[in-house]
Amino acid sequence: MNRLKEALNKIRSSSIGCFPTPLHPLKRFENSLSYQDIYIKRDDLNGIGLGGNKIRSLEFLLGQAIENNCDTVIVYGPLQSNLCTLAACACAKLNIKCICIHNAEEPTHFEGNLLLNKLVNVESIFLGNVSAEERNQYAVELSEKLKSQGKQPYIILNGATSGMGALGYTNACLEIYTQVKEQNLPIKTIFISGGNGGVAAGLVYGNYLLGQPFKVVVISVEDDVPTLRTNIKRTILESAQILGLPFDSSVEDCCLITDEYRGSGWGNNTVESEAFVHRLPQLEGIFIENVYTSKVLVGMEDLINKQKVTGGVCYIHTGGLGSLFSQY
Ligand SMILES: *Cc1c(COP(=O)(O)O)cnc(C)c1O
Repeated sequence: MNRLKEALNKIRSSSIGCFPTPLHPLKRFENSLSYQDIYIKRDDLNGIGLGGNKIRSLEFLLGQAIENNCDTVIVYGPLQSNLCTLAACACAKLNIKCICIHNAEEPTHFEGNLLLNKLVNVESIFLGNVSAEERNQYAVELSEKLKSQGKQPYIILNGATSGMGALGYTNACLEIYTQVKEQNLPIKTIFISGGNGGVAAGLVYGNYLLGQPFKVVVISVEDDVPTLRTNIKRTILESAQILGLPFDSSVEDCCLITDEYRGSGWGNNTVESEAFVHRLPQLEGIFIENVYTSKVLVGMEDLINKQKVTGGVCYIHTGGLGSLFSQY
């Protein structure tokens, strides 16, 4: 634990968020499942914008940007990208210029995250209906152009999933471990979502370095298991390189990954996930959205009902609330 703490302390963090985030039980949800000890880790309440996992990645990525004396952050994603909005908010706080690049037409009505982008007055570039690859290439070209004008741009690559970004969840694992010990909580299994795999990689790596105090279950919202596993592995190896603490295990041995709850893929509701978007607020007064946070709950409930989990569980709420307001 101290070894991990010391290694993380050596990496520059931009310290933008409010941590530790709350960790508390979900009593009415427990009752609805007739299952005890269901906890939620409120990473939706981490202090910037409407919160979410990307703030933890940005702590380290923007730390690196500051270390490199960067004056402009370039970030890209779909219109409702949580990363773009949260990067814009974090850059406002840090007084760094931010440019968001979207592969879509500029809409006439700004809703969800786009409304927030407007309020924070970030510079937005709408490329029209180009592919994600073309969008990413545009970001690289823009960065080169800014450099030739004497600027110091920093591009946030791959949806913030990188060895550096994932350290946010290595740090989060340490945070959860400390809360569990201090409050003597019975948590045995942690449930998280898997998009590009950055959250999962960080958590699995942190859990490994702590001697695997938790079981980690990754619910894919996007890719099939082999693809997600490959992404997680690559990211862990990058993080290990940065931190200098090796990962001498396999992803298979350190977590369970399932793609059973993603439906027809990223952004597409399933009947069960759509139902949860209504159910959780009605039980607990906590909002979730359709793309990421609802599908993890569907998977967690199903695995509990099938008795594939025993003992206390912790659901990590990764935020994404800005997009909820564009989903209806
Ligand atoms: C990006 C995101 C995730 C997934 O994170 P990855 O690191 O891409 O796996 C989960 N939840 C929300 C709300 C997100 O915005």
